[in-house]
Amino acid sequence: MARIIFIFIILIFISIFTSQVLSQSEDNQVPEECRQKSGGCNDKAAALPLKIIAIASILVTSMIGVCLPLVTRSIPALHPDRSLFVVVKAFAAGIILATGFMHVLPDSFDMLSSICLPEKPWHKFPFTGFVAMLSTILTLMVDSITTSIYSRKNGSGINPENQVTGGDREMAMTSGGHSHGHHAPKSATGVSQLLRYRVVAMVLELGIVVHSVVIGLSLGASNNTCTIKPLVAALCFHQMFEGMGLGGCILQAEYKLFKKAIMVFFFSVTTPFGIALGLALSKSYRENSPRSLITVGLLNASSAGLLIYMALVDLLAADFMGPKLQGSIKLQIKSYIAVLLGAGGMSLMAKWA
Ligand SMILES: [Zn+2]
Repeated sequence: MARIIFIFIILIFISIFTSQVLSQSEDNQVPEECRQKSGGCNDKAAALPLKIIAIASILVTSMIGVCLPLVTRSIPALHPDRSLFVVVKAFAAGIILATGFMHVLPDSFDMLSSICLPEKPWHKFPFTGFVAMLSTILTLMVDSITTSIYSRKNGSGINPENQVTGGDREMAMTSGGHSHGHHAPKSATGVSQLLRYRVVAMVLELGIVVHSVVIGLSLGASNNTCTIKPLVAALCFHQMFEGMGLGGCILQAEYKLFKKAIMVFFFSVTTPFGIALGLALSKSYRENSPRSLITVGLLNASSAGLLIYMALVDLLAADFMGPKLQGSIKLQIKSYIAVLLGAGGMSLMAKWA
């Protein structure tokens, strides 16, 4: 767990460092419209109470969103053994997938191809795709290395006969699909599967953080009262929906109450923290400065790669290729509808933030 956080921190430092180096002595070359703030209905005094309201309401709605899948635990129909649980997880996976493809990746493309960045090298090479690709490979590396270290440490080497996860999924399926995955938490496979879910939940939270802070930051730094009001409403829905996606993944990680509370708290404060940061930096922070475009653009690209990999491999493929869904076409169809609903809802949010 610590290893993943360590790698993520390194990633952040690399992007900040590169942006420092690359944005040096570029301030003189940027077009005029990138220097000044947009005109219109700028009113700092009127914007402040709106931002305070935004902090409170986004905090509450994110908490509601992320807790919603968690409280369903007490409903008998949503017990891990029941099929509705799988459908809820599919819905959550759809949300995460759309966050990567529809929110984070396009944001990164926008930022790194902005006219406010110098022609060389930013308009000569698709940095977003490159960084996102590297990030998927890095996520795969962390995923496979942590799994093999864990199984070696616990003396339960990868056994093709009862291994449901990773590359041996097909093998487990064709051998009759008798493995029980996380339904038998006492078995070695069950424990390593649970560990996997926990790693996935934590990495996802880190992947979502960048986007959540950035949307808060741009709200906090803006004094445009015409756009703030609809933006606050949009961000409330945005965070609630994204929270449902994360909540579904925290649910399957089966954390203890305290750790669950930490995950919920950490997610809920990210956007309000971004708004507060934007307020504090509103004098010096410019969304269109090369430095912030490069830093945020590169961070967005790496979290897009991470989110897309996790959604496809660790959430969707792991469930759909698992014994439970492979055993029932009817449940598969229900789950696909849930994926489409989750992905569709989150895609709709991309219209606003
Ligand atoms: Zn978004």
